Amino acid sequence: MKNHLSNRINSMATSATLAMAAKARELKSEGKDIIGLSLGEPDFNIPDFIKEAAKQAVDDNYSSYSPVDGYADLKQAIANKFKRDNGLTYGLNQIVVSTGAKQSLANIAMVMLNQGDEVILPAPYWVSYSDIVKLAEGVPVEVATSIDTDFKMTPEQLEKAITPKTKMIWFSSPCNPSGSVYNEEELEGLAVVLRKHPNIFVVSDEIYEHINFRGGHVSIANIDGMYDRTITVNGVSKAFAMTGWRIGYIGAPEWIAKACTKFQGQITSGANAIAQRATIAALEAPVSSIKYMIDEFHKRRDLVLALLGEIKGFNLNVPEGAFYVFPDISGFFGKTLNGSLINNASDFSLYLLEHANVATVTGEAFGNPNCIRISYAASEKELREAIGRIKAVL
Ligand code: PMP
Ligand code: GLU
Repeated sequence: MKNHLSNRINSMATSATLAMAAKARELKSEGKDIIGLSLGEPDFNIPDFIKEAAKQAVDDNYSSYSPVDGYADLKQAIANKFKRDNGLTYGLNQIVVSTGAKQSLANIAMVMLNQGDEVILPAPYWVSYSDIVKLAEGVPVEVATSIDTDFKMTPEQLEKAITPKTKMIWFSSPCNPSGSVYNEEELEGLAVVLRKHPNIFVVSDEIYEHINFRGGHVSIANIDGMYDRTITVNGVSKAFAMTGWRIGYIGAPEWIAKACTKFQGQITSGANAIAQRATIAALEAPVSSIKYMIDEFHKRRDLVLALLGEIKGFNLNVPEGAFYVFPDISGFFGKTLNGSLINNASDFSLYLLEHANVATVTGEAFGNPNCIRISYAASEKELREAIGRIKAVL
């Protein structure tokens, strides 16, 4: 029956992060003692003040359709947040609230890309970028980076990747999966190239903005000449541990925001009303109210780096943000471990699942075939146990 499905879906890959999480859940339900380090999802509860706002919204009967682009007072809270945290001025007509940053990204692809338009993706990139671009008939152009440049794209690499068909560049900083953070100087370096190509648009995915251990997050929209062609993407999934509540948003030139609203109005309408109300409370709170989570991620990063550093064959950068490590494990390729031949990162990740009962994600899904991604959004106890098991089976 597969033949009756559209070419669109047949040619789409399943999200590797979600697939691995589903596999880990399935094995767990069969009674296996799996430690899941595959899904990028904070293990904290939603802060109480946000839960209270959601309960209040239920009692206040926020039960009708919201405006497609989000409640005006939520958009005002987002505008205030952009000003406070990023020094960016976005009017309410430049903001669109969606069902997760994932939908924000899908909206952008659908309203900006025509068939054959090229989208530069510095690799490693977040798993869904490539398939979202392809869904919109765009062509992902991967630019391989390596651990030597902390997995960041250089201006020279960007320049070389640009062709007459280049329409956009998409990247995340802090980066999922490498944890790398572009500083102001590095963004300025990319902007120098982009200023020579005024028709290229930038998607700046800043969903890990607050999970930054060095501090000093910089938005590329704030760099000279970039504001009018940058779409700044953000959301509450990561910083506020609200993954299941599904709220993301963009700040963009008005004509792009309008197009996203038009598209969303035909596909899903406004995002969940209760979650939108709760998001107002999240964004109006001082950033200090979530510092305890950031501090904990920082501690875990140091722990994970120290423990993995003891394993021969793990080559690591020092991630400055997000909650992932992305070790290069290509030194294991061609080796046979406990009877399993390891040819690539997928084999390695599967080996860890089968022999150590630890779920990770292959770097192939992020456009880097030499690495695996390990999420440290897990308790210290789980992290120690998981890495101990990994060490034992290697
Ligand atoms: N961008 C990046 C870089 C991510 O890691 C995620 C995580 N899911 C998203 C976007 C989407 O987030 P959400 O849809 O939960 O807002
Ligand atoms: N962004 C998270 C991750 O990379 C959540 C899963 C997903 O949406 O793909 O694991």
